[in-house]
Amino acid sequence: MTIYADCNATTPVAKEVLNGMLPFFSEVFANPSATHKAASKPKQAVAKARRQVANLIGAKPSEIIFTSGGTESDNMALGGAVPYMANNPSDTILVSAVEHPAILEQIPNLKQRGYQVKIIPVQPDGSINLKSYSQMLQEYNVLLVSVMWANNETGVIYPIEQLAKLAHDAGALLHTDAVQAVGKVVVEVSNVDLLSLSSHKIYGPKGIGALYVKQGLRLNPISWGGGQEAGIRSGTLNVAGIVGLGIASQMAGDNLEKNNKYILQLRALIETQLTSAFPTALVNGASQERLPNTINIAFKNLESEMLLMFLDKAGIYVSAGSACSSADHKASHVLSAMKLPKQWLYGVLRISLSYFNTQEDINHIVETIIASVKKLSR
Ligand code: PLP
Repeated sequence: MTIYADCNATTPVAKEVLNGMLPFFSEVFANPSATHKAASKPKQAVAKARRQVANLIGAKPSEIIFTSGGTESDNMALGGAVPYMANNPSDTILVSAVEHPAILEQIPNLKQRGYQVKIIPVQPDGSINLKSYSQMLQEYNVLLVSVMWANNETGVIYPIEQLAKLAHDAGALLHTDAVQAVGKVVVEVSNVDLLSLSSHKIYGPKGIGALYVKQGLRLNPISWGGGQEAGIRSGTLNVAGIVGLGIASQMAGDNLEKNNKYILQLRALIETQLTSAFPTALVNGASQERLPNTINIAFKNLESEMLLMFLDKAGIYVSAGSACSSADHKASHVLSAMKLPKQWLYGVLRISLSYFNTQEDINHIVETIIASVKKLSR
């Protein structure tokens, strides 16, 4: 028996998504940019998918740019919404301390381009420090802010509407990395200027995502060629992937409430049982609004590496932090930014659930974690 509970890293492709994609690998293969009749089906399929993605986030179809995923969307947004070179040495970009590496790893490049990049701090409960944020907007010449909609490690949800309003009042644009939020909680773009999303977190295929770009906003292109995707991202479209993302978006929107009600119940079972078995365990971000599927729990004086090995042996697939940082054994930058004390910092498990997890899975996960932590604590 194996149990997959690492859905913030990736999800399987839903059957309906796969079936919808299959014809676009074979019989419906024409280039959607072609002018002959064979292009009409793929063209229509891309247009439908664009509507489906737009609907999920309350956008217009013309505001959706298809990309290769969340990383590319984040790169396109941060790198493309400001001039290639800063016009002024005071031009500043603000990013939160808990962003995904797809944002944070762009900082050296932005600095080379003449921008100042400042980090918005978070508080121990995971929330954004609004006082510091407002002060930074006043103190610096801020052109662009990037704060994620929900954190991939803790699931903490950020008040993007409010942050966007404050950014706009200061004359700045706001980008949000909503890769973990879209399809899991209600996401509306109403006030944001740029929003990243990714297909493989919502039961769609890997290698496809989108960037929402508010109407009227012009981005620097990331590729030059045939002028696809409003000239920002030239290249023949990944029609099957786009169709898959469209179906996944439709399904996520249709089932959101039902799935969340179910998943929240499972999450509560895990959290209450683990914290009562280990009263010193901390659920990070617990006081904040969080993604219903995400549990980030820290055990005192424990090495999560060892715990992960025990769980892996038992066929339980979870992670120690974000997928990207679990291979190296550094402390999570998210939990470090939240100032989680050292005794807990290295004993963290991230369990990210899905609607396909059952009550039986949860019992097995809880029993195995309790037994393993006890063994390791001895
Ligand atoms: N942003 C966040 C918050 C993520 O969790 C991830 C993936 O884990 C990404 C961006 C990158 O998305 P992709 O894997 O589609 O490039």
